[in-house]
Amino acid sequence: MNNKNIRLRFAPSPTGYLHVGGLRTALFNYLFAKKNNGKLILRIEDTDQKRLVKNSVQDIIKTLDWSGITFDEGPIQGGEFGPYQQSERLSIYQKHMFDLIDSKDAYVCFYSDDRIEEINKSEIAKKNAAEYDKKFQMISAKEAKERMENENSVVRLKMPISGEMVINDEVKGKLKFDYSLIEDPIIIKSDKYPTYHFANVVDDHLMQISHVIRGEEWLPSLPKHVHLYKCFNWHTPIFAHLPLLLNKDRSKLSKRQGDVAVEDYIDKGYLKEALINFIALLGWHESNDNEFYLIDELEKSFSLDRVQSSGAVFDVKKLNWLNQKYIQQLSNNEIINQIQPHLPLNWTITEEMVGLVKDKLDNMSSAKNELSIFFEAPNINMSILEKQFPSNLQLDSIIDSAVQHLSNIQDINKNIFNEIMKKIQSETNVSGKDLWQPIRFIITGHIHGPDLSSFISIVGIEECILRFNNAKL
Ligand code: GLU
Repeated sequence: MNNKNIRLRFAPSPTGYLHVGGLRTALFNYLFAKKNNGKLILRIEDTDQKRLVKNSVQDIIKTLDWSGITFDEGPIQGGEFGPYQQSERLSIYQKHMFDLIDSKDAYVCFYSDDRIEEINKSEIAKKNAAEYDKKFQMISAKEAKERMENENSVVRLKMPISGEMVINDEVKGKLKFDYSLIEDPIIIKSDKYPTYHFANVVDDHLMQISHVIRGEEWLPSLPKHVHLYKCFNWHTPIFAHLPLLLNKDRSKLSKRQGDVAVEDYIDKGYLKEALINFIALLGWHESNDNEFYLIDELEKSFSLDRVQSSGAVFDVKKLNWLNQKYIQQLSNNEIINQIQPHLPLNWTITEEMVGLVKDKLDNMSSAKNELSIFFEAPNINMSILEKQFPSNLQLDSIIDSAVQHLSNIQDINKNIFNEIMKKIQSETNVSGKDLWQPIRFIITGHIHGPDLSSFISIVGIEECILRFNNAKL
């Protein structure tokens, strides 16, 4: 049964790709809606015409689709509260703007073109403008509305000049904001489009949003939003601001320290299940510290009271670890299908190859590196070998002995290989890792790696003899 009163929304601005923080916001909204039998709405906040990026709406929708987060209402699904794209709702904002001008909760400020340009150029000019604009409060609503028709103007919300606003946030607890520090925000810009603050609040009200779950970076906007609700005499939704995402050094998550676009993780071949699992744990966990969740388990377990208020570290190593676990659950054949797009066309991958490297795969694109040992002979010669194993004086004899014994066999398996290793050991007097490491290094190019007898049986005895011979040069 639907709970009619629980309505959530994800409200991205189409200014580029979907950020991992955006996916976290979408996911937490989705989970909260599911858990409480509510509805989830997708609303496109495209009122900042200067920041719009072509195809961004489609890209964001495509990425959300990939993630498995589904919406009950939105630009594609439709719904009784549409349109769900703010640029199609301008007349609605205009009507509400006039209501606020009439009630003297908002005032119109007039500008010359030059002054608008100056204000757009610098933050200081913008700040001074807010002070300067207060003088326009004197103009009557009637005169202001008439002048608006022909003159450049912006509309500002009149904030209280003193006192404090106290708001309860489901994650952050009790928050206090000092009115004297908050300037009168612009609600309608000179291009007649609403600002984020205004459109966001009007729509949250009209779309009957019960809970606003969004990132902490929106906290400074909160008193402006709540004040708008008060001016309209509207009921405020419940707010929950999610903790910031941090780099490992606890600075704010940034592109400079790694990928932040969800698309980058999709392109690299992370599994949806792993990414969703990882994202869900960015600021939320259960008291039992369980680390593995499929989305339907999250739908049952999620709750806002287990969302932490301090920053959540975005640790790619943890994502890789989770992704490895999910990859290991796939059949070798399924892995082949998924890694194929990341590999050179002329590589024919077998299930045996995948079986040997699958526990090393951080993501599907890392398969190229892991599987290259089967297709590319390592570039190793005697001087490289001597540099790698400076104290090993038997490298020549190890190679000779290995070549000789490998040349005598048709097939290889674990037993045969162990026999050969014993023979090399007794002929060269080298044992343990002094013997295994050079051999592995010569045929794979690495000191660590998969089971050698399986590796040789896949690559072929002849190819391995060739690799030994090359190392002697
Ligand atoms: N359009 C805002 C954004 O891009 C939405 C913020 C909110 O959820 O209120 O994130």
